[in-house]
Amino acid sequence: MVTREIMGKIIAIANQKGGVGKTTTTANLGASLGQLGKNVLLVDFDPQGNLTTGFLGSAKTIIQKDVTDALTKQVPVKNTIIKTKFENVSILPAASNRLATIETEYANVEGRELLLKDILDQVKDTYDFIFIDCPPSLGMLSIQAFTSSDTVLITLQSEFYALEGLSQLLNTIDQVRRRSNPQLGIEGVLITMYDARTLLGAQVIGDVRNYFYNKVYDTIIPRNIGLAEAPSHQMPIYYYDSRSKGAIAYIELAKEVLQANGN
Ligand code: ADP
Ligand code: MG
Repeated sequence: MVTREIMGKIIAIANQKGGVGKTTTTANLGASLGQLGKNVLLVDFDPQGNLTTGFLGSAKTIIQKDVTDALTKQVPVKNTIIKTKFENVSILPAASNRLATIETEYANVEGRELLLKDILDQVKDTYDFIFIDCPPSLGMLSIQAFTSSDTVLITLQSEFYALEGLSQLLNTIDQVRRRSNPQLGIEGVLITMYDARTLLGAQVIGDVRNYFYNKVYDTIIPRNIGLAEAPSHQMPIYYYDSRSKGAIAYIELAKEVLQANGN
């Protein structure tokens, strides 16, 4: 019998700004790794639930149990995970904005930063990669995500203000390292929504490389209409338009991630 070694690597996809490609990257890097034969779990950890909508559309409203039920231990986490129709991809959905209430309900509860870690530890050995789609803030949910993760993958939109506010994100990562997860690393920095026609884009790449050196992925995600359209068809880009620039870029990124992880 051939046994395959499961990596069980947990990666938080983060940036406290909204609209910088976190959810798009979670869905499409995840689905691309699935295409390449890796078993992937995507965790929707943004109360807005965009990742869940992008996979399930209106079926989201009939989901009975979601990530909040697992976090609050109402339901075993395994019973809240849904296998998608896309190869090797499962999702732990956020089907209601109850996730937002966790932040206040657990505000004074000891060990609250470990809630997500507790449930992911139970399924970690089932997947090669677990990606956590973080909310656009640095509150308790992001702290839980960083506490659960081996590394953080930072997405940066190719825009003039790309690096603004990053020191807050890096400070939060440091704080989590000091308090609960000393091993937390930076997986990589991904430039998204790049427009090759503008000089600004080239300048942003230069600035980001000066700041993060070799942590920046060679793969740059272009601005591509297919990437914006695919979620409304409940598909990752690879399934929506496999020949689009967006699909090709996320497959390239997946290969880069595999290589960085010794595959
Ligand atoms: P975040 O999760 O950081 O808030 P999203 O991934 O939801 O960001 O992206 C914000 C918006 O931009 C969404 O409407 C998404 O479809 C679109 N988008 C993301 N990446 C691209 C891209 N490379 N090209 C075109 N549109 C994109
Ligand atoms: Mg998002």
